[in-house]
Amino acid sequence: MSDSEQRPTDPCPFPWCTTPHGATLHPDDEDHRSDGILVPATVRGADGAEEVELEVGLLRRRADDQTWLVVEDGTGAHLELTLASARRLRDVVRADEALAAELRS
Ligand SMILES: [Zn+2]
Repeated sequence: MSDSEQRPTDPCPFPWCTTPHGATLHPDDEDHRSDGILVPATVRGADGAEEVELEVGLLRRRADDQTWLVVEDGTGAHLELTLASARRLRDVVRADEALAAELRS
């Protein structure tokens, strides 16, 4: 596709979105996505502790009426939370004295 054949770029209302709207090849690629943040993590797998790289980002599919926080580990574990739920999780962890103390170190 030459520059003159590219579809026009739609303005995106989400400042975190890095999707090149109008320049993707598949309609599903037009979903609003942030760049993923990679976080090395140890998770409990079927055989015990496993080293993985979590990817955390924002996703808002074209049919969605809200934005989702997505956490996945590349091996099939996948969690999507509404932003309200993600904020509630953050607040509960911060407010719980024992949890907060363990996470401070
Ligand atoms: Zn977008």
